[in-house]
Amino acid sequence: MPETTVVKCARIIDGTGTVIPGANLVVIRDGAIVAVGDQTSAGYPDCALDATVVDLASSTLMPGLINCHDHFATRRSRAPAAAIFARSQAYQALLAARNCLLSLASGVLVLRDMGAPGLLARELALAVEQGLVLGPGIVSCINGITRPSGPGAALSMTVSSTDEVRAAVDYLAEAGANFIKVFAATDGSAPDQPTLTAEEIRAAVRRAQDHGLKTAAHTITRESISVCLQAGITCIEHAPELDRDLAREMALSDVVFVPTMSGFHMIGTEGWLWGRTREKAQIFASFLQPHMTAVRSALEEGVKVAAGTDGLGTMAMEVQLLERAGMRRSDALQAAMGSGAQLLGLNHCGKVAPGFDAELIAVDGDPLSDPTCIDHPVTIFHSGKVFDARALRELCGTFDESPVVL
Ligand SMILES: [Zn+2]
Repeated sequence: MPETTVVKCARIIDGTGTVIPGANLVVIRDGAIVAVGDQTSAGYPDCALDATVVDLASSTLMPGLINCHDHFATRRSRAPAAAIFARSQAYQALLAARNCLLSLASGVLVLRDMGAPGLLARELALAVEQGLVLGPGIVSCINGITRPSGPGAALSMTVSSTDEVRAAVDYLAEAGANFIKVFAATDGSAPDQPTLTAEEIRAAVRRAQDHGLKTAAHTITRESISVCLQAGITCIEHAPELDRDLAREMALSDVVFVPTMSGFHMIGTEGWLWGRTREKAQIFASFLQPHMTAVRSALEEGVKVAAGTDGLGTMAMEVQLLERAGMRRSDALQAAMGSGAQLLGLNHCGKVAPGFDAELIAVDGDPLSDPTCIDHPVTIFHSGKVFDARALRELCGTFDESPVVL
């Protein structure tokens, strides 16, 4: 007998960030959405007899958030990444598992992990799939690719030639990476760090294409963005120096932009409270204004933007910053749901419609009036189960209440 759940709520927001007119009810069977509407239109009477009813009263039901840029290994840590990476692999794995649970508890039902030491990200994804650890669906590059002692070296495979680049892509593809990430620039705090050459980035993108994998690049400078676009990259990350010309190029080639404004904003405004040096915080503070201009340029040129938090940011902060850069609120919410599903090729989620996975969150209030509520869902529908999100958050504590002590 298939298990049927009828979810009642005040309103339903779709992955596009808009309200589905007149809808206040979703019927879920075996983890999939079978009907959306109201009592008369949703097929409600048919399955009402044996259905479990979840009455969310005044809450808004919406697709789970899709965080397109973060790192389970270090997410929202009070300690600098280097201190975490100096710990044993066992400790790092346990910390990542906790960060995984916390991401779920904050409404993120899919997270694109942008790199962790060794095989940590791959094993965490496996553990979630096997039900050993509770967490969002994981899309992962496993490791980035960078130069020895280059940016992101601790969470990357390091290479010194195009042959080594190709070998690294082959290794990652074989290990199960869902996409390939390259580091094309330093963040400015260690400007002498060596970075991949244009030729190496081209080699990585071409080899990834041979494996049928998409690519993403950590970029900062105009030069790094340009090199990656020339190489045929499919997604540009951060890019505080993106200008109109490069944005136009991105739009023409359908390259997606994940600016991670909230992560950068947090380092620039209070990074020293989160284990970052004053110097690093100052550099990130200098990105704040250009970053806003970069996102504005992208929007004006029609570039697709997806939300990612990169470390210290949150999805609600990202939505608000995208709005400040000129997005309509509904479009900013779309960046946190439907656009992420599109970027990650998840055709079965990011939408509230029959046939889609019932990967949903319910939030207290209306995100179109106040988007801050998306960080604190009350109920989560994930993997065919219903979770009390408040209880989950109480279980693992918030980062602010229990900073990681190293
Ligand atoms: Zn990152």
